[in-house]
Amino acid sequence: MLLIGPPGSGKGTQAERVSERLEIVAISTGDIFRYNVKEQTPLGIEAKKFMDAGDFVPDSVTNNMVRDRLLEDDAANGFLLDGYPRTVAQVEYLDGILAEKGQQLDVVLQLTADDDELVARLLNRAKETGRSDDTEAVIRHRLHLYHTQTEAVVSQYADRGTLTRVDGIGAVDEVTERVLAAIESVKSAS
Ligand code: AMP
Repeated sequence: MLLIGPPGSGKGTQAERVSERLEIVAISTGDIFRYNVKEQTPLGIEAKKFMDAGDFVPDSVTNNMVRDRLLEDDAANGFLLDGYPRTVAQVEYLDGILAEKGQQLDVVLQLTADDDELVARLLNRAKETGRSDDTEAVIRHRLHLYHTQTEAVVSQYADRGTLTRVDGIGAVDEVTERVLAAIESVKSAS
């Protein structure tokens, strides 16, 4: 399954919870990048400049990284992707990986929240975690990219009839229950 949502929608937190409940591996491209930045690997050094500016890391780096990760053994029987695909080109690339693996997406879930709420949450998170991409200007840029690029991804899955939207506003537990209920209803409809 895919979990898509704007920065600050809580998708990372929800991805971890869903992955625990459904016993499938959660793969977050943002987390993989942050790990590589921390370890100062060549991938991390390359990614850092884009991340700090709130830009997408180029597909030439991101796509191969996702492909390698999805071909690992723990993703053989299912996975939850958090933060990928974010562009229409990445959707196409993911289609190719899935075809290669003989898998298909069961659920594409979008967490929704309005921009004012997101900016407030992210500025709060910046105080708590000190993430270098959580300054107001960078936050606004990341939201802009979400609206201009990632919403096209959402539309594409909506056109395919595989999209489910979940309201991301509310207490974390409440949102988790909504997400799990939405997954259940997709499963029972198929
Ligand atoms: P996230 O934790 O999902 O908000 O991701 C943090 C940052 O990692 C993003 O702002 C991008 O710089 C980079 N990133 C994560 N996923 C992708 C992706 N699918 N394509 C390009 N860049 C990404």
